[in-house]
Amino acid sequence: MSIKKIFCDMVIYQAMNKKETKILLSSLPSVDSILKSDEISRWLQVYPKNLVTKFTRQTIDDLRNSILNKDVTEFDRTSILSEIHRRISSFMGFSLKPVINATGIVIHTNLGRSILSEDIMDHVKCVSCGYSTLEYDLAKGARGKRYSHVQRLLREITSAEDALIVNNNASAVFVCLRELAKGKEVIVSRGELVEIGGSFRVPDVMSESGAILREVGTTNKTHLHDYEKAITDNTALLLKVHQSNFRTIGFTKLVEINELVDLGRKYNIPVMFDLGSGCLIDLKPYGIFIEPSVQEIVRSDCDIVTFSGDKLLGGPQGGIIAGKKTLIERISKNPLMRAIRVDKMTLSAFEATFMKYIDIEKAKNEIPTLKMLLQDITVIHERAKKIYEKIKGLYELIDAAMLEDESQAGGGSLPELNFKTYVVAIKPKKITVSSFENRLRKCPTAVIARIKEDKLIIDARTVQDKEIDTLVHMIDCSLKG
Ligand SMILES: *Cc1c(COP(=O)(O)O)cnc(C)c1O
Repeated sequence: MSIKKIFCDMVIYQAMNKKETKILLSSLPSVDSILKSDEISRWLQVYPKNLVTKFTRQTIDDLRNSILNKDVTEFDRTSILSEIHRRISSFMGFSLKPVINATGIVIHTNLGRSILSEDIMDHVKCVSCGYSTLEYDLAKGARGKRYSHVQRLLREITSAEDALIVNNNASAVFVCLRELAKGKEVIVSRGELVEIGGSFRVPDVMSESGAILREVGTTNKTHLHDYEKAITDNTALLLKVHQSNFRTIGFTKLVEINELVDLGRKYNIPVMFDLGSGCLIDLKPYGIFIEPSVQEIVRSDCDIVTFSGDKLLGGPQGGIIAGKKTLIERISKNPLMRAIRVDKMTLSAFEATFMKYIDIEKAKNEIPTLKMLLQDITVIHERAKKIYEKIKGLYELIDAAMLEDESQAGGGSLPELNFKTYVVAIKPKKITVSSFENRLRKCPTAVIARIKEDKLIIDARTVQDKEIDTLVHMIDCSLKG
């Protein structure tokens, strides 16, 4: 074939193409004609007019561009209308929506960490849907204090002299460093300069706060004398940070909090412990020995402890600062406090959560995070069995088995611990396991599960009893496509 011939063909092809595009463009309906159609007038009874107009215009514009880019070679009116409808309903549907957590990870950072119980939410609703005593003292008939509502409870359950709540633990650490150590040195072990994820890195938080990081020790070993040698007239704080999501094992040493407190006393320097997760119940009876409770840390006479509200505590997002009255008083007056304060919804959720901690047994049974972590293995077994029994009828589409497995706490809490659990392992016969997982995620009620050894794993630990029927229905729908 000659070059000339190829060139001729190309020109003819381009000419045909141009004509084709022209025809397609001229058959594009106008925005006005679409807006006048019967379907649209029906939608206008449900959706606001400006939105319908906007998405109609957008859909037509996009279609025009696709024609010009040759991405689209045919279309009809019905497909245009359904695309407009898809865009409107996807815009008008909530994006933040419930999912079924079948991962077994209790404090799942991406799925909202700790979940709140209905009766805790009752208090939130009752306080938030009307006016409240948020900053009003009924006895005096005058302005009251926002944090007074939780201080009595926090003192009782942490045994600290006083406490505050801020937006999250990151801001708790930040405001403490800012108030207690701005322009001064803070001594931290190199083994504790952690990154938690979501850009919380101890050295970065430190420099942003205006405190000067004074690293001591090595990655694997830090001794008390390392801290002592680093103390100068400019030392404002000795800081201990929970390693949270990692562990150093082998030839290691970190200084215990009581040793650090003794050193602090000797030099009259306050000691702060960023506990990260912070557990308010004694986990030892559950065979979980490694995690001292918040109360134990407070009892070690540590001056300030900070921890998250929505990790092991099982409350809403928040950061708790507990410790010595004089220091809490100082921190509470830092101008940053206003920027990181919590609103009435958070505060009421905390008040209701702390109220449960007054009776530890109640806390274990009624705070979802604790309940899921500490639930008896027979309860999980029962739940797994229920799920398994209900999907047994799908044997033409799946191989399923109930197996023993392990789940994790998550949220950087108790990282080296695996909790015995029961799972339902599903191997679809007609679709791949990854498309099964993908479909489950896109169900009307999304199911989040993990894949292991080419099977989809439903961990019964984090599936709520009331979700079982929906879960089974979603599995059924996803398999049948
Ligand atoms: C999780 C964690 C934080 C951050 O807490 P948020 O409540 O997520 O802001 C800070 N320090 C440690 C040690 C943590 O584990």
